[in-house]
Amino acid sequence: MAAILLDIGPGDEIIMPSFTFVSTANSFVLRGGVPVFVDIRADTLNLDDMKIEAAITSRTKAIVPVHYAGVACDMENIICIAERHRLRVVEDAAQAFMSTYNGRGVGTLGELGTVSFHETKNVTSGEGGALLINHSDWIEMAETIWEKGTNRARFIRGELDKYTWVNVGSSFLPSEIGAAFLLAQLEEAETIMASRLRSWNQYHEGFAALEAAGKVRRPMIPAHCTHNAHTYYLLLPDSKTRDLLIERLSAVGIQAVSHYVPLHDSPAGKRYGRTEGDLSVTQSAGSCLIRLPLWAGMADEQTRTVIEETIDIIEKF
Ligand SMILES: *Cc1c(COP(=O)(O)O)cnc(C)c1O
Repeated sequence: MAAILLDIGPGDEIIMPSFTFVSTANSFVLRGGVPVFVDIRADTLNLDDMKIEAAITSRTKAIVPVHYAGVACDMENIICIAERHRLRVVEDAAQAFMSTYNGRGVGTLGELGTVSFHETKNVTSGEGGALLINHSDWIEMAETIWEKGTNRARFIRGELDKYTWVNVGSSFLPSEIGAAFLLAQLEEAETIMASRLRSWNQYHEGFAALEAAGKVRRPMIPAHCTHNAHTYYLLLPDSKTRDLLIERLSAVGIQAVSHYVPLHDSPAGKRYGRTEGDLSVTQSAGSCLIRLPLWAGMADEQTRTVIEETIDIIEKF
């Protein structure tokens, strides 16, 4: 929906990190856009704002900061760069629902923000999401894109006596059943976040000594940000120890996973996108990061077990 609203067409370039999920790129590629992959910063694993300007060309239309693990990008800097070069900002806040940046909700800082309610996210309706729109005069157009390119929403409000096809669109709206499920999730959103934060903080304290010993790196939360505990991850020194840790945790019944195969290294990423500069931080995060189990309702005892097993394995390396 964001790509249609911004009128992205063939050859338009969209600056985004390679260290993200495929949906970030797909939405623009579906309109003929070209993802331009830029490296991430080593501290938050978010789009490196210092490397954006080198990627800007006369074809650049938008910047898509992805708030990895629910931790905000440096939005002040990114918006400043976008304004200087007259580019749009679409926040990929898929993982960041309820996180804040300088006291404002993440996803509400750019011109458009996208939130995911996929089953893997904190608040879910199975599949689905929300588009946050910062321009009131874009809302009517968004509504038609949402409803298969028709003005049916206006018809239902009694503003028209029949509805018709007015522009390109699709079936972006949720089903009644999905929406009912989501409503119940939203009513519990604070409880869900508090429970996840409890486990997240337990992990963070539990691994402090391991980080001090130089054996892992823990997530970094910038001072002006609050986060929603979407993910707890650790960065290992290299891919060999990361893979071994995944294997040994699995042997004791703990599922931990890597994240992500960088898009610029994927078959479709190579076909549809281009890379700007060196992506060494992306490469290193893709091969050294491990995500630990985290869910709403995780018992302290379970988190403690994961911490103890992880420390035990790493100390034997
Ligand atoms: C989950 C996710 C998405 C969106 O996924 P959908 O399946 O389209 O809801 C987009 N970007 C990131 C970074 C994600 O984690």
